[in-house]
Amino acid sequence: MAKYKNYVLAQSLEEAYALNAKKSAVIVAGNMWLRMCGLSKQMAIDLSALGLDKIEEKEDAFLIGSMTTLRQMETHGALNAAFGGVFREALAPIVGTQFRNTATVGGSVFSRFGFSDVSALLLALDAQVVLFARGAVKLSDYQQEAWDRDIITHIRIPKGQRAAVQSVRVSATDIPVLVCAASVSDAGLRLVLGARPARAQIVVEHLAPDCGAETFEEIAARTAFGSNLRASEAYRRKIAPVLMMRAAKACREVTQA
Ligand SMILES: Cc1cc2nc3c(=O)[nH]c(=O)nc-3n(C[C@H](O)[C@H](O)[C@H](O)COP(=O)(O)OP(=O)(O)OC[C@H]3O[C@@H](n4cnc5c(N)ncnc54)[C@H](O)[C@@H]3O)c2cc1C
Repeated sequence: MAKYKNYVLAQSLEEAYALNAKKSAVIVAGNMWLRMCGLSKQMAIDLSALGLDKIEEKEDAFLIGSMTTLRQMETHGALNAAFGGVFREALAPIVGTQFRNTATVGGSVFSRFGFSDVSALLLALDAQVVLFARGAVKLSDYQQEAWDRDIITHIRIPKGQRAAVQSVRVSATDIPVLVCAASVSDAGLRLVLGARPARAQIVVEHLAPDCGAETFEEIAARTAFGSNLRASEAYRRKIAPVLMMRAAKACREVTQA
């Protein structure tokens, strides 16, 4: 159980950023992960008064506030319509509805969990992470970085693509054994593998959407997988081409619909 000595409901991003500069402070979003960490901090900084819990549709992109919950994304009509229902499909298997009503996209992206369905999907959709101090950075770069003290304000997802996700779990509500997220745009097919169990990564881009099964075998052969309590390296390598093939097929079908 996490312990916080003081609690601050930030009144501005400037205030939150200044307070978070101290290592004794921590941003608290949904608190679903933090509360299990057993950490002890002088100050919990709450961003919930800053209007960051909105999904905005712009001309060329969706702008999702960092305090938006997984459930908001899962059930958002325009977001799902724009990307072929993939948020509904990808987020529904995460734990349970009450959990998804609380866990946020900002907490997910910041944490860079290897098992994250959220990060795998956002990587496939070529998302950008908008940070208070640094501005917009590509999620594919942010994913590789060490944790810092900047604050995520938004996630930006460009329109004009369709996506699909495939995941395997040992049992419902558990974290995934492997996730494959795929997107198709004018730039071709992009595939992301997550829960390898390392952090999700783009394994191929600019692929012809109708490529054959041997292509997925080749991609799996040159991708790094590992073993953990949930599955062996060999098992992940074996199922990866199947998940990639299914995700690519689902993407093609959404695109043609
Ligand atoms: C039991 C359990 C099972 C899970 N299963 C899955 C799963 O199957 N699939 C999946 O994708 N995810 C899963 N998750 C992860 C979950 O979806 C969230 O990613 C996680 O709970 C973090 O989100 P949060 O809002 O709770 O963040 P918090 O716990 O509040 O914070 C997490 C971290 O992010 C930082 N942070 C939060 N917001 C910001 C911000 N705006 N700017 C900078 N830093 C910030 C915090 O300081 C903290 O370090 C699971 C989590 C738990 C606890």
